[in-house]
Amino acid sequence: MMADRAYFDWNATAPLREEAREAVCAALALTGNASSVHAEGRAARRLIEQAREEVARLVGAESRNVTFTSGATEANVLALTPAIEIGGRREPRDRLFISAIEHPSVLSGGRFDAGQVEVLPVTSGGVLDLDALCLALSRSKRPLVSVMLANNESGVVQPIAEVANIVHAAGGVLHVDAVQGPGRIACDIGALGADLLAISSHKLGGPQGAGALIRRGDVHVADPLIRGGGQERGLRAGTENVAAIAGFENVPRLANTSLFTVPGLKAETAIIAFDLNGVAVSSGSACSSGKVQASHVLAAMGVEPAVARGAVRVSLGWTTTEAEIDALLTAWNKVVSSLFNKQANAA
Ligand code: PMP
Repeated sequence: MMADRAYFDWNATAPLREEAREAVCAALALTGNASSVHAEGRAARRLIEQAREEVARLVGAESRNVTFTSGATEANVLALTPAIEIGGRREPRDRLFISAIEHPSVLSGGRFDAGQVEVLPVTSGGVLDLDALCLALSRSKRPLVSVMLANNESGVVQPIAEVANIVHAAGGVLHVDAVQGPGRIACDIGALGADLLAISSHKLGGPQGAGALIRRGDVHVADPLIRGGGQERGLRAGTENVAAIAGFENVPRLANTSLFTVPGLKAETAIIAFDLNGVAVSSGSACSSGKVQASHVLAAMGVEPAVARGAVRVSLGWTTTEAEIDALLTAWNKVVSSLFNKQANAA
């Protein structure tokens, strides 16, 4: 990140996470083509399959249902085709319905003829007009519907589970551009009811140039966008971008919750110090009958006990103000500088 800059454009792209940078560098150091059967090829394949499992876990899907692409733009265009198979049977789509607030890659209509694409209105609150959706579906036998999970400009979250029920009741297939979702809001493909779901690596702290189209069940795209060597189960030809795929990982975390610590800090001391400064925070340790034990969660994450001992949890809610956050930061500075002073005096 550039010095003296405050970056507030995460919906455009997120900074590369350190773990992703390491995974990319490790993958770039390999030589193999993931399709080769020798040891070098198998090592590259292993990285791709590991990433596939992580991406699948991110959205609650099965790893064999994840197809890697060059990004969400490609994943969206791959999904938006009349050539859909369900349970191995050809069930071509006759119309594509999209919301008016979709990303340009969806607004393009993908592989549908312009005459087959219909744009549906949203309410003044930025939510898809569900009455308009129901009406539109009655004009199609086999519709494909594409609605985004959260809008990249307004941040408005769409009622996808409800949309899925409506679409499925009408015999339709639902594609969801979920790019702005993972790591911010719940993004389980089963709970959403999406048949196809597109995500992008660089919104999650992974590198630019990797994305995925994920299937929930037996709905298949039967029309590859790029044909060739049969990679990605024939759905996306071309030697895989192993480095970008290997960096495609994320740890989803609630936006309102942060757990932080400095070595040497004792959570119980810190909480009292915060309290004296008028700030109520929690410890990342379970405290029963006055005895503070290291958190089982942090232990399970492999955090060293000496570090876990100081974990302080801050969680924000709808009444939180900026002034309160300033007070928290002032108190945090006091707590940490008094700890460092103590450590310096003891040394
Ligand atoms: N959909 C949405 C909602 C987006 O915000 C973006 C990125 N601006 C995309 C799709 C395209 O993703 P990618 O950059 O991976 O092609």
